[in-house]
Amino acid sequence: MKALALYIHIPFCRRKCGYCDFYSVCSEKQIPAYCEAVCQSLEYQSGTWAAKHEIRSIYFGGGTPNLLSAKQLSDILGTIRSRFILAKDIESTIEINPEFSHSRAALQELRDLGFNRLSIGIQSLKNSDLRLLGRLHSSRTAISCLKQARKYFDNISTDLIYAIPGQSLASLKSNVNRLLRFTPEHISAYNLSCEEGTPLAGSVAAGRVRLADEETEREQFLFLHEYLQHKGYEHYEISNYARPGFHSRHNSAYWQNQHYLGIGPSAHSMLYNTRYHYSADLKAYLEKPGPFHQSEPALESEKIITALRTSIGLDLKQLKAETSFNVLEYAKNHPDWLLQKDSRIYCTLEGWLMLDSILPDLI
Ligand code: SF4
Repeated sequence: MKALALYIHIPFCRRKCGYCDFYSVCSEKQIPAYCEAVCQSLEYQSGTWAAKHEIRSIYFGGGTPNLLSAKQLSDILGTIRSRFILAKDIESTIEINPEFSHSRAALQELRDLGFNRLSIGIQSLKNSDLRLLGRLHSSRTAISCLKQARKYFDNISTDLIYAIPGQSLASLKSNVNRLLRFTPEHISAYNLSCEEGTPLAGSVAAGRVRLADEETEREQFLFLHEYLQHKGYEHYEISNYARPGFHSRHNSAYWQNQHYLGIGPSAHSMLYNTRYHYSADLKAYLEKPGPFHQSEPALESEKIITALRTSIGLDLKQLKAETSFNVLEYAKNHPDWLLQKDSRIYCTLEGWLMLDSILPDLI
């Protein structure tokens, strides 16, 4: 029985955040039809993948999964349970936004549905940062959500954004300290990136917002690396920290090149070295939620990129001989950035900082 990670994309948001380029729409009226379509996808895909796989992690991401009612989430989970084989110790995560989930009842409902891991989109605990990012919640709402979440979940991940325009190191440290009072088991920390076509990119182009410079990004990355390790977290992926035993099983499946099945518009799958996807088009998905499109075979370059982002690194045995030789040679010539141990190659801390510049020479 092979392990499978299952991702369900919920492509609805109340309002788009200024920096976000994930696929989602701001109209909620299609949610009921969407939930039915997801169940149809699951039924269709189970015909091919259910028999020989055990689902070891389920991840509801978005978008904003907690715009769905408990009944809608329950219907989707019911279809998963009836169609697939689930591991007894399955990791079952739902992403939530604080503004819809700070009540006790909402969080208890998620726990009762069987989710055992919450991923909360905190991003910052400073109101001016949250306004700049275009988030709907306030610092107070985020704190309230964290407090309530602790009563029902013993596995909580929080998203944090750093290198926000105007954010000082002291402000980031205060943010992190406030977050750490709730002892989240997992922290995903991303530097604010400016994606083409987003309102943030428009504000930057118009000169209304000035992005943090490279030196600030570097300083804040290094601070998080030192400080969170000092507080007992393992820096196990370039943007992810976890207390021992709390690495994200679901995301690790992506990073370690394991099989994953993604359901919903824009969701990607990787099964037996072949990539599949549903188009980022809600209307098209609702019309035809069954089969997905086959993309190109998984590329060696993708394996290298994702593996070098992790602390366990890249297993050269998983690469073609020639690619493996090139990576090994590069590591020998750049020991400050890449280290070799047995058949694995890892990034040093400096290598992580330089990863975007290193990759074109490796792939
Ligand atoms: S960051 Fe999350 S909540 Fe904000 S628009 Fe993107 S998917 Fe929606």
